[in-house]
Amino acid sequence: MRLYDDVIDGILDVPATDGATAALAGNATIHLAPRRALHRYEGATVLPVAPDGTPVESQRVTGAALTVYEGGVTLEYTGPRNFLTSALIVLVPAGEQFAAVAVEVNAVRRRSGGLVTADGTLGGFADELLQPERLTPTLRPETLRFELGFPAETLDRWVRAGVLRPVWLDRVQVCPRCRALPTFRQGCKSCGSARVGNDRLIHHFACAHVGQARDFAAGPNDLACPKCRARHLVVGADFEYVVGPYRCHDCHWSDTELSPVGHCLRCSLRFPGEQAHEIELKGYHAHRLDALAVRQAP
Ligand SMILES: [Zn+2]
Ligand SMILES: [Zn+2]
Ligand SMILES: [Zn+2]
Repeated sequence: MRLYDDVIDGILDVPATDGATAALAGNATIHLAPRRALHRYEGATVLPVAPDGTPVESQRVTGAALTVYEGGVTLEYTGPRNFLTSALIVLVPAGEQFAAVAVEVNAVRRRSGGLVTADGTLGGFADELLQPERLTPTLRPETLRFELGFPAETLDRWVRAGVLRPVWLDRVQVCPRCRALPTFRQGCKSCGSARVGNDRLIHHFACAHVGQARDFAAGPNDLACPKCRARHLVVGADFEYVVGPYRCHDCHWSDTELSPVGHCLRCSLRFPGEQAHEIELKGYHAHRLDALAVRQAP
């Protein structure tokens, strides 16, 4: 995209006569040879795209006509001769709704009666606003954050302009400090360590004593109850193994349950899982004019 000042050299103040050759500033010439229109859309709306990607609402033009040729387009409208930029979003009627198409203007002619004719091509900077990959939050490897191709505030303005539609995608948990992607593990509620383990306990049925398995050791392959002194205990018949409470090897905290612990992959913040910040992933949808339909003759 260029700012309009750069396009001034391409502006032709000549009557639009098919077959004419008009001199441009410098040595360039433009051949206005008759071209066969592939498609013509009446009742189009034109919105210039500012360099920061926002719509220039003050220059919205309605009732325009977009003609698609092989290798180029022509836009006819009554309105400002100079849009702020050469990047335009054009909304054309498509059935019940409007379809968006990006146009990059190369040259502007003014005809009598205030009618402006702008020649250009499909695509350009404005097309980035319509690309699905720029409209869907994606995890960026550099930031480890879900980011859109444009700031959400910018895309929201295109929603209000009638070009984009918001799409709810998902809900994800992110770092409470930097909003980047964390990992989660079950760990110590007190210090966040994942170096936790269980004690192995033995439950002696006969006397109902429950104690550390190591306290039942009574020689090679023999187990004895430290409370009632019964010997030669047989697993299943005399006792069962029981999983004891969790114990943290770092801070010696003990509890019957572990807790989810988050660890940010970007800023290394360690935090209780329930403190994770939850964000909604919202994307945008552009109803684009089917490029194939544009290129095929009606
Ligand atoms: Zn701990
Ligand atoms: Zn016992
Ligand atoms: Zn972080």
